[in-house]
This record gives sequence, structure tokens and C-alpha cells, in this order.
Amino acid sequence: MEARWLDYKSTLLAKYGTTVYRIGVDGGFSCPNRDPSRGGGCVYCDAKGSSAAYQRKDESSYKRSSSCFVPDIDRITAISAPQTLDERKQSIIRQIAQGGEFIDKRYPGASKSIYFQAFTSTFDSPETLRQLYDCALSTGSYRELIVSTRPDCLSEEVVSLLASYRGKVETVWVELGLQSGNDDTLAWIGRGHTVDDFIQACARSHSGGLQVSAHVILGLPGESYSHIERTARVITSVHPQAIKIHNLHVVAGTRLYDAYLRGELSIASRQRHISETIHLLRRIPGDIAIQRFISDTPMHRLAAPRHFGDKGVFVRQLLAQMELQDVRQGDSL
Ligand code: SF4
Repeated sequence: MEARWLDYKSTLLAKYGTTVYRIGVDGGFSCPNRDPSRGGGCVYCDAKGSSAAYQRKDESSYKRSSSCFVPDIDRITAISAPQTLDERKQSIIRQIAQGGEFIDKRYPGASKSIYFQAFTSTFDSPETLRQLYDCALSTGSYRELIVSTRPDCLSEEVVSLLASYRGKVETVWVELGLQSGNDDTLAWIGRGHTVDDFIQACARSHSGGLQVSAHVILGLPGESYSHIERTARVITSVHPQAIKIHNLHVVAGTRLYDAYLRGELSIASRQRHISETIHLLRRIPGDIAIQRFISDTPMHRLAAPRHFGDKGVFVRQLLAQMELQDVRQGDSL
């Protein structure tokens, strides 16, 4: 079957000759954008800051496995108290042991990467960052170091620090939230940065030899196909090595959830997300690897959409639709 987009897993296989899985790590970071003086963070940000589902030890196994929505989950799982540097290191070591064991059991022989995933994983002093990254990478041999952050938390100094790990791992990535190429939308969703901030952060990352994965959300309030075209133009101009596409999720305990309860939002159906995904894909270069197509929120935290279906269903339907239309990534550039 002909490929309609550049699949990230295939790029890993081609590069390393083996499958590679990420160990998601919560390094005990916070996020400057969650400061009340900045409006309390992105409207969709929950108390977990995108930590991996298997690392959410403070949620009971019942709640993690339940498909029922639990609207008061954030009162049960409030953000934990600040930790000392040593506690953060111990936690990182524990998480990597746990994540590594999971991967070894499920995918014997696969390579691993370290993924600092939760909140803003460069939001600390360079010396503390160095100690935390060193700690993670001292636990074994890893293909890649991936650090999730914000455009306004990626100084030249931090880029240099991250670039210094290129001898220790084969590739260093930063995952940078753009979300939308439209400043009005960024203001509405409380991102606390502009499109230009994202463009500058990509330039700094690329100058330092880092790979960039840009995060985009489709289905944001007020966005139409012309807004998606603008987002595609920004992506094309900075040319990240990968992108992650998300469909807007309404998660319990967020300001977006409050707006949803007030009836101020409509949430895209799977069909709409397929259509918007195709619109974006056709307008970005074919050598940008696609790492994700839909959001991944545990059902007990997810207010909407509730009946979207899983990733496998989405990818099959997306592929079928692209074949039907005979379109592919980058063919509208
Ligand atoms: S940048 Fe991430 S962690 Fe910070 S407020 Fe936004 S979603 Fe939350």
C-alpha cells in the first residue's frame, strides 16, 4: 500500500534499524505559564501536564482503567508538593526503571529513548537541568533524548546544554508547542507566547543541531480551514523534523472544561478531524515525520469527545479517505 504520509515509526526503523520506544519521564518540573499572574496556563492544561498514563501513580488503578468520566479527578489528584533535587533524581530513576521494564516485557529487544514529557521540562536553572538529564541518561543506553518544552523556555544556554548530549545519545529532540499559527487563537487559549516566539525557538534549536517536533491542535475554537492553512505555512517555514497533531480534548478540571459546561464550545467529530488533518497534511512538506494524529487522554479524565474511537480506527479511516481522494502529505504545496 502506498504511503500517504511520512510515518515517524518508519523513520526510526530506517535510522536505527530497530524499533525504538520512549520512556516518558516526569522530571518534577512546573510551567511558567501556569503562574496565576499569567492567567493560570493554557485553557486545556490539566494538573498532570501531559505525563504518561503509566506514570500516574497517584491515580488509583480503578480510575486509570475506568472508561467512566470522573469530573472531580483533579481534586483527587492535585499537583504534588515541590520536591528536592535529590527526590527528583530518585523519582526519575524509579520512573525509568518502571518504564523500561514495561517496554522490555512488551517489546523485547527494542531500543529505548528518554522522553521528558510532563509540564515544561526546561523550566529550571541550567545546572539543575544538567543534573536531571545526566541522571536520566546515566541509567542505561538510549537512542534519543527528547525534551518537551515551550518556545519561551528555550534560551541559547539551554539549547547548548541539550546539544551537549549529542555524543551520549544519537539524536536530541525538543518538542515545542505551537498549537496554532494564529496569534488570536494563541491568546484565546492562553498560550502566553506568540507565533513569532515559536519561530525564533525553532531557529535557535536548529542552529544548535537539535531536532524539532512541533505540536499542533486542530479543532480550536474559532478556527476554520483558512486558520489551518496559516498554521501549515508556519510549520512549512520553520520546517521541523516532525509534528504531533492533536484533536482538541476537553479534560476535567481545566478552564476549557468550564467553557464546555457553559456551552461555549463545539468539539470536532472524528470525520471533521479527519478532514482537517488531511487539510494540514497536504500543506506541509513530505519529509516532516508525523508522530501523532489524535490526543490521548484517559477516558476517566476526558469530558469530550467521548465517542471518538481509538488511534487505530482513526488512522485506518484517515488512510481510506486519503486514498479515496488520492491525496498525500505535501501535495498542495
Ligand atoms: S505550556 Fe503545557 S504545562 Fe504549561 S500551561 Fe500550557 S499545557 Fe500546561
